[in-house]
Amino acid sequence: MPGLEDLYKEIIMDHYRSPRNQGELASPPAHHALGINPSCGDEITVYVSVDDDDIITDVAIDGRGCSISQSAASMMSEAIKGKTTAEAAELSDAYKGMLAITDSGDKPDLSMGDLVALRGVSKFPARIKCATLGFNTLLQALENSGSTTSTE
Ligand code: ZN
Repeated sequence: MPGLEDLYKEIIMDHYRSPRNQGELASPPAHHALGINPSCGDEITVYVSVDDDDIITDVAIDGRGCSISQSAASMMSEAIKGKTTAEAAELSDAYKGMLAITDSGDKPDLSMGDLVALRGVSKFPARIKCATLGFNTLLQALENSGSTTSTE
């Protein structure tokens, strides 16, 4: 389906050119972490605010790197806002499962929002680290509970 591939490419480039939730959180964020993908030179800092009910109330992304890494982080920031930390971890698993799918026959999971646009990355194993950097950094940030030091 070349039409769908083109649409996906457009979604990726849109997030790359206009990243969502870019910057830092004004109020001191409880959780943040720096993720680096040395093989491509991608860097992403994820800031997350989590309330007492474990809901991700706000997220900000500060990053530089290739279009896959930056668009994936932007899409992730939209997908996780308002979710619980457990739901965000589940989404991360589902997303990584999608990237491991090499057979393009199965249906995309629409609950993933724009992240489905990255399913084509499964055909390029070298770029999977770019596509998962955002989620891996998010999970790291959530583990850094109450910490304000980033891991480098
Ligand atoms: Zn990259």
